[in-house]
Amino acid sequence: MDPAAPGTAPGGEESASGPRVEVLSPRDVPLGGPRAMTVRRTLPQRARTFIGAWCFIDHYGPDDVAETGGMDVAPHPHTGLQTVSWLFSGEIEHRDSLGSHAFVRPGELNLMTGGHGISHTEVSTPRTTILHGVQLWVALPGEHRDTGRDFRHHVPDPVHRDGAVIRVFLGSLAGDTSPVPAFTPLLGAEIVLEPHGTTTLDTDASFEHGLLVDRGTIRMSGTSLRPAELGYLAPGSGTLTLTNETDAPARAVLVGGTPFEERIVMWWNFVGRSHEDIVRAREEWQAGSERFGHVEGYPGDRIPAPSLPNATIAPRGNPTHRRGTR
Ligand code: MN
Repeated sequence: MDPAAPGTAPGGEESASGPRVEVLSPRDVPLGGPRAMTVRRTLPQRARTFIGAWCFIDHYGPDDVAETGGMDVAPHPHTGLQTVSWLFSGEIEHRDSLGSHAFVRPGELNLMTGGHGISHTEVSTPRTTILHGVQLWVALPGEHRDTGRDFRHHVPDPVHRDGAVIRVFLGSLAGDTSPVPAFTPLLGAEIVLEPHGTTTLDTDASFEHGLLVDRGTIRMSGTSLRPAELGYLAPGSGTLTLTNETDAPARAVLVGGTPFEERIVMWWNFVGRSHEDIVRAREEWQAGSERFGHVEGYPGDRIPAPSLPNATIAPRGNPTHRRGTR
């Protein structure tokens, strides 16, 4: 038996003020390469691997591209995951080995499915002065992790609620449902709260949720979250109340899903189930395998994979799984 049964896990405790929110702090990660972009990463971290199937949350900006140089990510591969690009400001040109050529703009979902293998480039356009947004990854469940490449674009209609404007890019919230399908039950939405605005949302009680605050201070079920912090709420609540504690509009991205029970190995741009999966994907990228295809129209070389660590990479799940000893 897992000693951390539902209801006793961190974040799942009820108190007089409601369910407890676990605050996950970001760490700064320089992306490297010729430009100097640094992101704030809140997932994965030691305390948490997943929120639903969401396995990666990078938050960046607002960056003045005249200073940072903006984004210029040369051809690189992905396996076993989907990428979500969501911008608050700026514009990114996306190209991939499916042949997609798209412009990522604020308020527009761009969802790329890597599946068995894909490669892509992401470059902020010359029109961009301020670059500001998030990059999110979704782990594909084992039965679909070798699915074919795919790319979807969706512009959600803003939903106006008491005190809030909501854009649902995946799943359902506030009466809106994204038409973009997911491989596991998922939620992804941008929420902008009026100054001192409060909104209470009906949520799926089987979902766990994460609120990444972009701007302002937002109270999530009784816990104040500052910009770049990620609040985590375990399954069990059928509602979520968010309050902007500031005099200016506040903004956040809400992610959610049913707890992802599988363990994964996540290394560089690959998600697999074993160290051997990662070794194989790395070798095939280095060899120029058709597994990842080719990106047309990018004026530069592919990004070589870094060296593997000497040790075998162990699969990981959420901490409750790690404590599950027999
Ligand atoms: Mn990528």
